Amino acid sequence: NQESKIKAYMEEKRVPHVLIFPFPAQGHINQMLKLAELLCLSSIKVTFLNTHHNHNRLLQFTDIRSRFARFPGLFRLESISDGAPDDHPRPSGFTLDFSKLFNMNSIMSPDLRNLLLSNANTTPVTCVICDGIMTFAIDVAKELGIQTIAFRTTSTSYVWALLCLPKLIQSGHIPFPENADMDESVLAVPGMEGFFFRRRDAPSFYNVKEVTNPALQFFINETFNSTKASALILNTVDDLEAPFLTQIRPKHFQNVYTIGPLHTLLNNLRVATNGHDRIDFSSSNHNGLWEQDRSCLAWLDSQAVKSVVYVSFGSVAVLTESQQVEFWYGLVNSGYPFLWVKRSGRGYSGEGDENIPEELREGVEKRGYIVGWAPQEEVLAHRAVGGFLTHSGWNSTLESLVAGVPMICWPHQVDQQMNSRVVGEMWKIGVDMKDRCDRSTVETMVRDVMCGERREEIIRSMAEIGDVAKKAGHITQMLKLAELLCLSGIQV
Ligand code: UDP
Repeated sequence: NQESKIKAYMEEKRVPHVLIFPFPAQGHINQMLKLAELLCLSSIKVTFLNTHHNHNRLLQFTDIRSRFARFPGLFRLESISDGAPDDHPRPSGFTLDFSKLFNMNSIMSPDLRNLLLSNANTTPVTCVICDGIMTFAIDVAKELGIQTIAFRTTSTSYVWALLCLPKLIQSGHIPFPENADMDESVLAVPGMEGFFFRRRDAPSFYNVKEVTNPALQFFINETFNSTKASALILNTVDDLEAPFLTQIRPKHFQNVYTIGPLHTLLNNLRVATNGHDRIDFSSSNHNGLWEQDRSCLAWLDSQAVKSVVYVSFGSVAVLTESQQVEFWYGLVNSGYPFLWVKRSGRGYSGEGDENIPEELREGVEKRGYIVGWAPQEEVLAHRAVGGFLTHSGWNSTLESLVAGVPMICWPHQVDQQMNSRVVGEMWKIGVDMKDRCDRSTVETMVRDVMCGERREEIIRSMAEIGDVAKKAGHITQMLKLAELLCLSGIQV
């Protein structure tokens, strides 16, 4: 029966129809929704698949339906279970039950297969674009004869670092030796010599005690499995990450499509297709799993040009109470006004402002503005914002780069340690606090980025690097997108 269903399915495939399936977290859904809109703008039918939990959050906190209403019949939302009960904690979108998270394959594959087969009588899916860490979707799609593309939402440097891991493990460089000097380079892999990555700049997964660590194994396996897809999409620009792209293509990935920064490409395309006056960027750019507090834009209006430090650590990072206290001190002592996103839920050990040291209350009230979730792209584009204290998530890095806002990087996990090193050392458009967050470092680095000679140097590099990113949002990227679509069997 299953066989005849598959046969019927394969015979009926005709109209281009892309299924997009992101990993259940903000920074992944965010980018892949942008790709979905780009495809809809090109009149391609898209099914956007989430876990039930994030599906409901998107419906609750964003006006996703009205955002896609201008593409009648082209956009459809679907959801499947992540295997955990409804009331299981998912503060950042994915379940904290790691036995489920690292076994998405066995949990989600049957539902995905059924969903793809159930399309057989309507418009069958002709191409699956899955997150590069949800590669069971590649296997399911291949079994049904569907074209597959992997989308990796991190930086290229990180993808490359993961590809290096088996050799580093084999040669005994990972795990790091006990009491290893964290300022030493991570060497011993072809291509890594001569780079400016020290142990402390390596992805957080490098720093494990055992190579059997389930998170480490998960990311290695997913990265190598993603090479089975016909192509890899990266939200980056060739000229921004050239040294790392050279390492991964064509050796690991034959077809790499660097179509970033996606938010720039999308904004340009919206303008090209709709005209300026009909676009409401404010709602269209909200892809969040939290409700936006837009009151901060009015507060920013009341601040001087380039005077505000925007502070956000993204959708996953969790700060300890003492880290927060150091940040409070550093920010208040720097003397600059600041807008701080203190995500509600498990994001921080204290909610709101209850753990502000008593002696700082007056300073915080005078200079600080706190929100639960900000319209980040608009905040970064605001004339009052002069610096971004960030966890160096890849989205935040690209958004800051395009907006021309210098960064103070405090990387937390995954690719962020590498991104912050690239920002500080390769692009020189910010400073890298790395693993320090004492009040005096925070204060000094905020001052460095907000005024004086260091800021001037950063602004000069920013003009150059930002230009590379902004220009990429035009013809070259569109051509790549077109080629990508052709590869997916879509006529362009
Ligand atoms: N973001 C937002 N409002 C906030 C904080 C973050 O809209 O208050 C968005 C931000 O614009 C970015 C994403 O959330 O697109 C965070 O992604 P990133 O890769 O920087 O970090 P992650 O959340 O994955 O750690």
